[in-house]
Amino acid sequence: MKKAAYFVIVFFFGLMTSCSDNRQSKTVEVITDTIVQDIPELSDKPAITYSDAEILAAEDTLWYQDYLFASYPIPESVKDRMQGKSMKDNAKIGYDQLRYLMLPYYDFDGHVQKGELVCNIIIAHDLLCIFRDLFSEQYPICSIRLVDDFDADDEASMQANNTSCFNYRPVPGMNKISRHALGLAIDINPLQNPYIRGSKVHPATATEYVDRTKDFPYKIDKDNLCYKVFTSYGFTWGGIWRNKDYQHFEKRR
Ligand SMILES: [Zn+2]
Repeated sequence: MKKAAYFVIVFFFGLMTSCSDNRQSKTVEVITDTIVQDIPELSDKPAITYSDAEILAAEDTLWYQDYLFASYPIPESVKDRMQGKSMKDNAKIGYDQLRYLMLPYYDFDGHVQKGELVCNIIIAHDLLCIFRDLFSEQYPICSIRLVDDFDADDEASMQANNTSCFNYRPVPGMNKISRHALGLAIDINPLQNPYIRGSKVHPATATEYVDRTKDFPYKIDKDNLCYKVFTSYGFTWGGIWRNKDYQHFEKRR
């Protein structure tokens, strides 16, 4: 249908051109060829696809066009990746209170990627909606991988500009448990949106992004879509705190 539409447009374009230009048909033919050849053949196909198992095993799903945002009980294969890394022996949270999310997103090159994230069941549906809303506006996110791919080392994950949620860990530089340890907080594009506590910057490689009066890509502020979408679902932004945590959104129970 798309191609047919282009031919109709090209046909009328040709008519208009021949009416206004006496060099006529030769010119029109050349323009027509160029336009038709420029139609991307793959435009009707989704950039990522899903197996039947991925669709059927989901506990909660949202579709945006051909893209699936899905939530699962933590699969055994993911537990194997998490155990002893993001999931440590503790009395506060277990796998049955967590969910594994599959989240399509646009990377910094504008390509659609399949992201994976572990969060608390309490915010699982919110995150499906939030990432669907961000995706629909092609909001750029560098990477969405489990922190276990970084041995649950938060600093390494942040330096890789990785967006992540659950990690049973303390707040950097403090003794108290993080909201991430309950899967109730998420960090977005952490390199351009560091956590600043006194003179300490997390990640340490983000010093050029500490000055928020500067304008640069992927910066989260109150005018940014990420802030608007997260807060519309009842999340709090760490960028308003005394110790600024620009990458951080969390939901209070
Ligand atoms: Zn955080």
